[in-house]
Amino acid sequence: MPQPSRRSQLIPFSPIRTMFRLADEMERAGGGPVVRLHVGDPDFAPPESVVEATAAALRAGKTHYAPTAGVQELRVALAEKARVRNRLAAATEQVIITPGSTQALFATLEVLFGPGDEVLLPEIYWPNYVQETLLLGGRPVFYPLGAGYQPELSALRGLVTPRTRAILINSPSNPTGAVFPEATLRAFFDLADEHDLWILSDEAYEDFVFRGAHVSPGSFERDLPEEKRRVFTLFTFSKSYAMTGLRLGCVVTPSLYTATLLMKCQEPLVASTGMPIQWGALPALDEAERARVARMKETYRRRRDLAVAILKPAGMADYIPEGAFYIMADVSATGMTGDEFAETLLKEERVAVAPGSGFAILPRFAADGSLVAEPSPSGAPEYPTNPKARHRVRIAFCVSDEELGEGLRRMVRFAARATSSRAPAASARTDDPERATSWRRGRRARTRSRER
Ligand code: PMP
Repeated sequence: MPQPSRRSQLIPFSPIRTMFRLADEMERAGGGPVVRLHVGDPDFAPPESVVEATAAALRAGKTHYAPTAGVQELRVALAEKARVRNRLAAATEQVIITPGSTQALFATLEVLFGPGDEVLLPEIYWPNYVQETLLLGGRPVFYPLGAGYQPELSALRGLVTPRTRAILINSPSNPTGAVFPEATLRAFFDLADEHDLWILSDEAYEDFVFRGAHVSPGSFERDLPEEKRRVFTLFTFSKSYAMTGLRLGCVVTPSLYTATLLMKCQEPLVASTGMPIQWGALPALDEAERARVARMKETYRRRRDLAVAILKPAGMADYIPEGAFYIMADVSATGMTGDEFAETLLKEERVAVAPGSGFAILPRFAADGSLVAEPSPSGAPEYPTNPKARHRVRIAFCVSDEELGEGLRRMVRFAARATSSRAPAASARTDDPERATSWRRGRRARTRSRER
């Protein structure tokens, strides 16, 4: 067989997708449903108005290729939304519609940097940031997060090199649920201004901030002329409107010129976004929908409180997420890594959570800029991981209160069992980065052979 590209062999898997496969396997093997706390897919349905409008668009023959930048009516509505709700200086032509933020991120990164360039990312991050940066030949450089997963601003300046091109901000954050205060966002903006860097602001969870208001860093430059702006803002319908399977998002670019480049990069990637959903999504932006989004936010807040109420007395929650619908639970008392914990919890209690290591892989680079990793038969190398996430698992609280309560109570029960039977050898092995992800290697190989 010819050799697949090195890059495709070297990028890491997403831990979330891996858990998906394992949970599916368990259910197929019988024994009842798995409680799924590993994936950030809201349990709500899309707005009825969107379902109706999408069906109507399909029936009306709106089934052809859309313009690459998107259906004009939706661009107009999203530009208006970005101006009013996010306080961005968004002309319609600056808005590019995308089939979700995942693809938007890739196309945007294409515009922001080239091979060998560096991008500053949070050290605990949504895995696609690193997957996509590596696919583009870029080099992730991680900014440290301190208490409550807030950026340690004093460290930022020291990370900028002549190769740094962009800073990525994700507030509210997946996987931590941290919301960066306005002063922090301004510090990022000032740093970017000082060193002439781009900012990519991923605001997938803009509608789920539990205290205070969401702030878009792009609003800081709304009064600047286009050529002085630097913020690309990514939005998605996936979370705010529970439309993950409908694949729709947008990028608000800082200028007409960068919008043209983004559109050009999107063309070879997807040609354009699906036409029916672009028409179908229009009613989601009506003011009438705000009440529904607010109710969803209250539901997530209630579930956050429920999660903390169960995890904290068990010593598994050491901070309170202020947004999104995730918490990084601390499993260190069990002596297990997050990977070991997630695998054993699934087996023993039929609860799926996402191991923290997958949100904290630390790719290493040789002096010539090449990635230090070798292809492996499992489809991805084992990477060292950031110790700050090694004894963590991510819980997604976008399931029903009953499921969340049941899953977390089983998790706490399992952790108590593991802690009390903790063998001295167990703690000794947990800080070995190679061992930390080793179970996934074997698991993946077995999964793949079954899939074939
Ligand atoms: N950004 C973040 C931080 C996310 O958590 C997600 C989805 N989990 C996305 C972007 C992508 O969402 P989508 O592609 O569905 O728009």
